[in-house]
Amino acid sequence: MDTAQIRRNFVAHFENDTRWGAHTAVPSASLLLDDPTLLFVNAGMVPFKPYFLGQEAPPYPRAVSVQKCVRTPDIEDVGKTTRHGTFFEMCGNFSFGDYFKQGAIELAWELVTKPRSEGGWGLEESRLYPSVYVDDAEALTLWKQVSGLPDDRILRLGKKENYWSMGIPGPGGPSSEILYDRGSGHGPDFDPTLLGPDMPTKLEDRLLEIWNLVFMQEELSAFRAKDDFDVAGPLPKKNIDTGMGLERVAFLLQDVDNMYEIDVMFPVIEKAQELAGRTYGANHEDDVRFRVVADHVRSSLMLIGDGVTPGNEGRGYVLRRLMRRAIRSMRLLGCEDRVLPELMPVSRDKMGETYDGLHRDWERISAVAYAEEDAFRQTLRAGTSIFDMAAAEVKAGGGHELSGDRAFALHDTYGFPIDLTLEMASEQGLVVDEVGFRRLMQEQRDRAKADARAKKGAHRDATAYRAVADALGAPVEFTGYSEVVSDGTVRGLVTAGGVVDSASEGDEVELVLDRTPFYAEGGGQLADHGVIELANGARLRVDDVQSPSTGLVVHQATVLNGEVTPGLEAHSVVDLERRLAISRAHTATHMVHKAFREALGETATQAGSENAPGRFRFDFSATGAVPESVMSDVESRVNAVILDDLAVQAEIMSQAEAVKSGAMALFGEKYGDRVRVVSVGDWARELCGGTHAGSSGKLGVIKLLGESSIGSGVRRVEALVGADAYRFLAREHVLLAQLSEALKARPEELPERVNDMVERLRTAEKELERVRVGQLLARAGELASGAEQVGGVAVVATAAPGASGGDVRTLALDVRGRLPQDQPGVVVVIGDAEGKVSVVAAVNDEARARGLSANELVRAVGPLVGGKGGGKDDVAQGGGADASRIDEALALVRTEIGKVAAS
Ligand code: ATP
Ligand code: MG
Repeated sequence: MDTAQIRRNFVAHFENDTRWGAHTAVPSASLLLDDPTLLFVNAGMVPFKPYFLGQEAPPYPRAVSVQKCVRTPDIEDVGKTTRHGTFFEMCGNFSFGDYFKQGAIELAWELVTKPRSEGGWGLEESRLYPSVYVDDAEALTLWKQVSGLPDDRILRLGKKENYWSMGIPGPGGPSSEILYDRGSGHGPDFDPTLLGPDMPTKLEDRLLEIWNLVFMQEELSAFRAKDDFDVAGPLPKKNIDTGMGLERVAFLLQDVDNMYEIDVMFPVIEKAQELAGRTYGANHEDDVRFRVVADHVRSSLMLIGDGVTPGNEGRGYVLRRLMRRAIRSMRLLGCEDRVLPELMPVSRDKMGETYDGLHRDWERISAVAYAEEDAFRQTLRAGTSIFDMAAAEVKAGGGHELSGDRAFALHDTYGFPIDLTLEMASEQGLVVDEVGFRRLMQEQRDRAKADARAKKGAHRDATAYRAVADALGAPVEFTGYSEVVSDGTVRGLVTAGGVVDSASEGDEVELVLDRTPFYAEGGGQLADHGVIELANGARLRVDDVQSPSTGLVVHQATVLNGEVTPGLEAHSVVDLERRLAISRAHTATHMVHKAFREALGETATQAGSENAPGRFRFDFSATGAVPESVMSDVESRVNAVILDDLAVQAEIMSQAEAVKSGAMALFGEKYGDRVRVVSVGDWARELCGGTHAGSSGKLGVIKLLGESSIGSGVRRVEALVGADAYRFLAREHVLLAQLSEALKARPEELPERVNDMVERLRTAEKELERVRVGQLLARAGELASGAEQVGGVAVVATAAPGASGGDVRTLALDVRGRLPQDQPGVVVVIGDAEGKVSVVAAVNDEARARGLSANELVRAVGPLVGGKGGGKDDVAQGGGADASRIDEALALVRTEIGKVAAS
């Protein structure tokens, strides 16, 4: 059964269920769903978290989904186990306070055992082992009833395996898995009655976990470790969250050995065999590499598809690492050519059957991927020579270990992955100080984390926020779309130490209100600033506003005076000027986005933005620099739209209606039933939660400042809007007027006039140069005739103040040419110009025959002028920065020549 069919059968099984009720089919959310605790969506339940946490009311009692997931911690397992992908699809059914354990167990068991002809998996009961949490007697009884399996076929596992939580206080509960015994070829024999509470690792590929059913039934109050927490009591509403690995079921039903060999992944391995000229299945090491390639190529494709671009931190770094590992694995398989242009399309053709965006967006996706491969190949080239130098140095010093510093520098500066450094070192018989390397990496990560924390506000602590959100009961009401002054009540205070119940003058707090007009930073729009006045006269200045989780808004504020306590009424006043300037920038961003898509095509999709007061930054996908003509077309287009004064409107509608109305749905949106669509007239339409100007005319003027690359496949445009754009243009005008005055030319004549001047300056410089060299060379004859005799060698050793490298060399060669050819002759000229000392030695054939070498002379005097250099025996050149000992250096030249001449 192909993967697509398994996916369809899963959804149909739940969508059409009549016993427990039809489930609403919910499409997969983007991998980049906005969740501050996660880099990527890593389970089917993530998009439903607000419902499980009680932050939002679920719009349906039951749901079914097939969710794209990425699990970076599993990266090391890829290809080594049979069952771990970095990207995989999780099929799940969900109940929000509706059916509970019995429904979940019945529905899962039925699907797993139902014959394939009836849309099930038809797995033999004799191979199935359900597991329960050891203390969950209810689940044990239900399993026996539903499956009819004897008691000893049901495994009882401990908290580590079969108790689910989010790793923080909040909902938790026992879970139950369905395991499939793949038989004796896949692991040691076992006695089910002796298994538990921990599952032995060596059995995990034999007793394959295909489905995990989570029974969310209690509230955890303290969380110390996965198997160490306190239970506060039962949850008022019990929920079901299940996850079945699509690829795992596929490899069982397709009767292949592992998930990398299923219909949607194996073609990549086939292509890789072709490219590498090696056979899959021939040896274990190569097989792991083939599987890594199949997995990582697919994961990279899916990540780029959802809008990730390779980078050095966060999501971008994960992508970069996956791509580099794939490319490296191909190299280790013996293929040094570009591989992604061969492999990615194979994966696209397979995954594109389900995710058609991969086809639509292919131009962008492939451009990003191929550019990254080219960049990595470049890195490999540059890093390899740096590595070789470092290795040679270690060996020359008699050592055998490359220091952690070196490995770190290779990594940090040349993007050289440590595994590569390790491997290349071992090829040269060296080891690497990995411990030192990891310590430096950790230090760097800690610095990055501290930076990120400092940026996001000091008091981020998920537990404190959850406590406040729980106490709130309902999401914070955002009134800021229609007003900038609102009344509400203080509902929580958080400081670095956690939740507090008062704050006083000078304190920095994070304040939570039940209603607020303050816009929290999000969707590229910066936060509002302003003032909050409390009923007791206390006042706070708001400097930042963030939303750490859906429905929660925290104001980062400084208490200006008075005492702040929860329960007080709060009068919030947003800084209107800042808000208007930010809103103008946001509307302008939409307009520029639209105009770029008109000019460059649909692939010019937004990859990020920042809307600040009066200025904005807009990042979008493009394969190369944007031509100047496109920039000016876009600018005039958006300014024409300003003159049209189109109304800007926001409407709430269903996702489907939004797509129908032509709204651009960007990555990262949370799948919800209702979305907000902002339109500029009928022209530009986007899903957006931000604030906007009332009409395009309010923007006044938009000025694009320029365009640059910020990474492979992504361009950044910076621009000004409104008064800031006007001020910029006015300043340019003044500058122009000043230039025009200074050059006595009309503005339109300036370019030509300046070109003229530059041209004349160049001619004058050349003339000056000629004169200077002439003067210098005029001395040549005089110098040659004044040569001293040192041990039978004609020596000219002279300083040439004001002469720099090229001139010094010309002079030295000229003087050498004037010395008698039949007698040994040596010329050393030391020039100094603008703080730079240049030494040139020129030795004629006769002198070389006497054992004199220009190279050795330069090396001898180099240290005296604070530098080094060298060259050949006949001419050598060096330099330094210390002009104070030139005379000494010249004396040394004579001594050295004397020594050689005497020997
Ligand atoms: P395992 O112990 O095998 O790593 P898990 O306990 O991490 O699995 P869950 O977090 O319970 O798995 O996820 C639910 C289901 O998703 C699993 O039963 C499995 O079928 C699937 N799954 C989990 N991780 C992966 C992965 N890296 N690749 C493919 N499928 C996965
Ligand atoms: Mg796992």
